[in-house]
This record gives sequence, C-alpha cells and structure tokens, in this order.
Amino acid sequence: AAVPSDGPTIFDKIIKKEIPATVVYEDDKALAFRDINPQAPTHILIIPKVKDGLTGLSKAEERHVEILGYLLYVAKLVAKQEGLDDGFRTVINDGPDGCQSVYHLHIHLLGGRQMNWPPG
Ligand code: 5GP
Repeated sequence: AAVPSDGPTIFDKIIKKEIPATVVYEDDKALAFRDINPQAPTHILIIPKVKDGLTGLSKAEERHVEILGYLLYVAKLVAKQEGLDDGFRTVINDGPDGCQSVYHLHIHLLGGRQMNWPPG
C-alpha cells in the first residue's frame, strides 16, 4: 500500500493533460476518467481539479463540503451517461486500511456487472 502523502500525484498530471487518460466528463471543478486497471466493465474515477488538501476523505474540512457533494452529483451524471441504469457502486478508499493508493481524493464509479456485498 502507498504511504499517505500530501504531495503531487499522478492525477495532477492527468488534470494538466501531461499524461493521457480517457476522460468521460470534465467541467471547471471536476474530472472523470477511466481507471487504468478496471475492476468492472465500467470503472471511472471522479476527482476534484483542485485538491486543496483533500488527499483523502479523512482529511475533509468544512470548506470541502461543497466539492464533496458536487463530486457525488458528477458520479450520478456519469453513471447515467454510461448507461448504468440497473445500478452501480461508488467507493472512496481511505488510507492504508482502505487500500488507498493515490492521495488525491477520488470517487470510484463501478458498474456493468453485479457487485458483491460485503466487499472484500
Ligand atoms: P485507490 O486505490 O487510491 O482508491 O485508487 C486509485 C486508482 O487509480 C486505482 O484504481 C488505479 O488503477 C488508478 N490509477 C493509478 N494510476 C493511474 C493512471 O495513471 N491512470 C488512470 N487512468 N488510473 C490510474
């Protein structure tokens, strides 16, 4: 597992288009792109364009409330755009126990197959 860090991540390079990503949604606040190692037929990451200290959900402060809600709304928009009409899964991994590997908050949107519960 990656060590938690507040520094730049690979997602900054994706935001700046310095490395390629398959972007499925973009606006001034949020970016959504396909996960490079998909765990479901549809596996998309939704991230804030400005990290503002939000390395993970455990670092959320009151100033982040608006962007956190907005990212969930974008997850819904992307789910609809991807045709996930029978449902989907959203996940936010946090810290070593949560198997977080990139320390720039992101929502996983997974769908296109039956998900399992409880998760492993
Ligand atoms: P985490 O494990 O932190 O919850 O999720 C990080 C996700 O980012 C992983 O699912 C991983 O496959 C994905 N990822 C890591 N590096 C890249 C990359 O360079 N491009 C894309 N599209 N996804 C990445």
